[in-house]
Amino acid sequence: MIPVVMPTYSRVDVVFERGEGAWLWDVTGRRYLDFTSGIAVNALGHAHPSLVQALTEQAQKLWHVSNLFRVAGQETLAARLTDLTFADTMFFTNSGVEAWELAVKVARKYQHDTGHPEKTRFIVASGAFHGRTTTAIAAAPTEKMVGGFGPLLDTFDQVAFGNLNELRRAITDKTAAILVEPIQGEGGIRAGSEDYLRGLRATADEFGLLLIFDEIQTGVGRTGKLFAHEWAGITPDIMCIAKGIGGGFPMGACLATEKAAIGMVPGTHGSTFGGNPLAMAMGNAVLDVVTRPGFLEHVQEIGAVLKGRLDDLVARYPGVLAETRGKGLLLGLKCVVPNTEMVNRLRANGLLVVGAADNVIRILPPLIIGTEEVEAALAILEKTCKEFSQ
Ligand SMILES: *Cc1c(COP(=O)(O)O)cnc(C)c1O
Repeated sequence: MIPVVMPTYSRVDVVFERGEGAWLWDVTGRRYLDFTSGIAVNALGHAHPSLVQALTEQAQKLWHVSNLFRVAGQETLAARLTDLTFADTMFFTNSGVEAWELAVKVARKYQHDTGHPEKTRFIVASGAFHGRTTTAIAAAPTEKMVGGFGPLLDTFDQVAFGNLNELRRAITDKTAAILVEPIQGEGGIRAGSEDYLRGLRATADEFGLLLIFDEIQTGVGRTGKLFAHEWAGITPDIMCIAKGIGGGFPMGACLATEKAAIGMVPGTHGSTFGGNPLAMAMGNAVLDVVTRPGFLEHVQEIGAVLKGRLDDLVARYPGVLAETRGKGLLLGLKCVVPNTEMVNRLRANGLLVVGAADNVIRILPPLIIGTEEVEAALAILEKTCKEFSQ
């Protein structure tokens, strides 16, 4: 008999009951160190006092009114995010993939409205992940994700991630935009080099294309900058964000320059739930904390400490671990042993991490961890590597 929850995940048989900071307790009372953060979502950890306060205060006032009306929290959050980024405007969504799909719409509309209705195609990267709608799986078509779901939208041209020459050769007079993750998350914490990202910007400018960054996983402080592209000193025309921005409350946004969003006039897009007052209270509360002086520096510093310790572990257990990857607290460990086994054994020892492609485990602690959590995680990693070596 089919489970009452549609069985599209092979879930771990653990049920959590409560969380605090980087720690989770399951229904049997067992404690785990959570270095998954709900896949880079709980940026401030579990039950952060500021978020609990913002949620309960807003819950007593107003949850939802629809986008028929002005929503004060949207205007506040959008003004703050435009101040902090390249963007001039944004649309709030409930999830990452919705923000991503809107990026696709905005880019097509831009080309259409500026005299290039023929420019409808997107150059995307191998190893990418953009979400699970029919459009998003067409952009990153692995057999697991697309098998049986066709026909797919034929509008994406995939080139090797990191290869500018191949990308340039794939541009045609039908290309509307380049669409990549600055660091691929699901793909195995594969970072585009700063030169590559700058090359994407220059190429987009040279050919009249828009540059879209999917920062759904990399954004909101995860790499130690508010957004990962800042490391390369360039900006996109459109960016989609989600995951960390709600701190665990489902929300996302598609940010754009005024130029790129030229076609987005009344009636061109909408969402029933997107940007409701409850979500906006959470987004604003997360941003309050992430923009505090020293917060991003903390992510850079503790991330560097953690990465250094992981490098050391890789050096001492070459039969178990191959290399470290990533920036800030978006870290990956490429394994020699099967990554799924590593995830399972770490969990058995009390540390939660996430698998990724390329035999990588993702280490995505909440951005608020300190040395105590780093030491606790390292002790479990060390113990687990020893077990594999025996
Ligand atoms: C998680 C993720 C998405 C999809 O977000 P959902 O909220 O699951 O729809 C898209 N792109 C990237 C890079 C992601 O990490």
